[in-house]
Amino acid sequence: MTKMYYQNEINEAPLQGKKIAIIGYGSQGHAHALNLKESGYDVVVGVRPGKSFDQAKEDGLDVKSVAEAAQEADIIQILLPDERQKQVYEAEIAPYLTTGKALMFAHGFNINYGQIVPPADVDVFLVAPKSPGHLVRRTYVQGAGVPALFAIYQDATGQARDLALAYGKGIGSARAGMLETTFKEETETDLFGEQAVLCGGTTELIKAGFETLVEAGYQPELAYFETLHELKLIVDLIYEGGMETMRYSVSDTAEWGDYVTGPRLIDASVKARMKEVLADIQDGTFAKDWIKENETGRPRYNEYKKAGAEHQIEQVGAKLREMMPFINEGKKKVVIK
Ligand code: NDP
Ligand code: MG
Ligand code: MG
Repeated sequence: MTKMYYQNEINEAPLQGKKIAIIGYGSQGHAHALNLKESGYDVVVGVRPGKSFDQAKEDGLDVKSVAEAAQEADIIQILLPDERQKQVYEAEIAPYLTTGKALMFAHGFNINYGQIVPPADVDVFLVAPKSPGHLVRRTYVQGAGVPALFAIYQDATGQARDLALAYGKGIGSARAGMLETTFKEETETDLFGEQAVLCGGTTELIKAGFETLVEAGYQPELAYFETLHELKLIVDLIYEGGMETMRYSVSDTAEWGDYVTGPRLIDASVKARMKEVLADIQDGTFAKDWIKENETGRPRYNEYKKAGAEHQIEQVGAKLREMMPFINEGKKKVVIK
């Protein structure tokens, strides 16, 4: 079994008294900044003037420009969108990354694909919550936490590992468990998971199911409930107790259909293509394409986004959800990256 790290075995002392700069105040940024502050750490937020800047101030944090925050901090956690990190790092962080400081990430993309090349005399490590940022915050407030990965890329001070563990504890992740990985493993599995299963695999499965029913003449509203709405209820059961718990709760007919029909759809050919997707992630093909897409103003990204929003399932869903305000009660929109 892989070793998991929990609350009691983690020493907070190495991080105490250090100034932590949280660069960016978006999905992950707001959660890390607020959780660390409430865990007793010295936090400064570094972000450009605008919406996030104002929000961080309103939330009672010490807010500065990226350069100022990077200059005064000992630990610099970059929580900007992955595709912006290289540029901001070079202009506003690298000049202040002096000997013995720590550079941190919540995802290994820019280090793993050589976009950011830090100097050798600083610590470089990541703490990556396996969760959307808004749940990093929400669970912390509830006294719980989300699991996190941590990885050391460079240990210049000999303290990188202790700092990473203390940071993870500070954002609440040691309540759920922390697992050690490498930048390479974290980056490749994170990209694979979101593409093949969590985001890409799931949305295409939902759409194909919805379209199959609607094209066969069934009512779109019914198709929405069947293929999208109810999916959450099924996934909750899987989350709570694994697939067996879900299968215990559904009818025996549904369970039988699960066994005989699931493999007819998600067959060996799907797994073979998953292996191709993984190979593209491992050899940098996916990263190269995404970096180029950003450099050219995101033409395909914008097209996909527009087509996604215009799909019938989104129109039907928006209307039905209006009648179910309780779905979003007390929640902020969550974003997975
Ligand atoms: P967001 O897109 O939510 O972060 C946006 C923040 O970055 C905003 O505060 C924005 O400010 C700021 N920003 C953008 N460009 C600049 C700039 N040029 N200068 C200064 N500030 C800027 O990011 P995420 O939280 O989604 O992702 C952060 C990191 O965490 C990524 O590495 C991601 O892979 C990782 N991660 C994210 C997860 C998630 O749940 N989202 C899950 C696990 C890891 P403004 O308001 O001014 O635009
Ligand atoms: Mg049913
Ligand atoms: Mg990701």
